[in-house]
Amino acid sequence: MNIVVCVKQVPDSAAKVVVEGGRVSWGDAPLVLNPWDEYAVEAALLLQEAAGGDVTVLSVGGESAKEALKTALAMGCSQAILISDPALDAADSQAIARVLCAAIKKVGGVEAAFFGRQAIDGDMGVTGVQTAHLLGWPMLGLAARVEFENGKLRVERSFEEGRQIVECQLPAALSISKDIGEPRYPSFMGIRKASRAEIPTWDLAALGIEAPVSVVRWPEVFNPPVREVKTEMIEGGSPQEIAEKLVAKILEEKVL
Ligand SMILES: Cc1cc2nc3c(=O)[nH]c(=O)nc-3n(C[C@H](O)[C@H](O)[C@H](O)COP(=O)(O)OP(=O)(O)OC[C@H]3O[C@@H](n4cnc5c(N)ncnc54)[C@H](O)[C@@H]3O)c2cc1C
Repeated sequence: MNIVVCVKQVPDSAAKVVVEGGRVSWGDAPLVLNPWDEYAVEAALLLQEAAGGDVTVLSVGGESAKEALKTALAMGCSQAILISDPALDAADSQAIARVLCAAIKKVGGVEAAFFGRQAIDGDMGVTGVQTAHLLGWPMLGLAARVEFENGKLRVERSFEEGRQIVECQLPAALSISKDIGEPRYPSFMGIRKASRAEIPTWDLAALGIEAPVSVVRWPEVFNPPVREVKTEMIEGGSPQEIAEKLVAKILEEKVL
């Protein structure tokens, strides 16, 4: 089965993201493969191991996004393609979806497109759905297990309340939940292969599309209001005494 995984490069989850001069900044923190997309890569590789085929990883971003693509290559993806064009600088998610749709068509013969649950910087969780819509493919969300049986994709979806089995014909788009299992670490051989890989870059002309119109703008971004936090150490001669003082304090502050 030929699978595409769409991945975004994002600031490391440990980065302190702040607004400076009206722009979002994460200082010197490294940029990484979006953690939710690591699960999507893992799911695609598991399916490839069971059903054969290739896993192509795609990212829309700047030159630096090649590092995120290399992480996916080191995990075991067959090939990676960067889609980069200055016209995409302030692209909204629908514009990104249009670009991903064109790229998936250009890769050719793609039977399944995998997405992360959300990007940890933008956090909208809509790009996969929008891409599926443009492709005219069904979307199976939050897959915790993916199988290919009798020509059908069989997906176990996971929620807090339980699990569901859903099935559909290919082609289809999927978003992957963390219940798929821990993403594999890149192997030593994988890292060496990825470090030497030549990653092609496609611009909008290569995709044969005009710059997609972005209708959503973000004219203002600001830091959340600072919350005043008071810290009080509760002391006592025994754990029981400390616990009693803590309970009294919690009741006094009407926390419970
Ligand atoms: C301050 C700010 C505010 C913004 N607000 C909005 C807004 O309100 N509405 C809007 O439409 N756009 C907005 N954008 C733009 C938006 O962040 C990008 O369009 C982004 O690429 C998609 O949205 P997301 O990051 O929320 O991704 P999500 O929709 O959360 O991503 C879901 C999945 O889609 C895939 N994916 C997402 N981005 C890419 C990519 N670049 N390449 C490959 N795969 C990808 C990944 O698999 C990812 O896990 C904003 C950008 C900024 C900087």
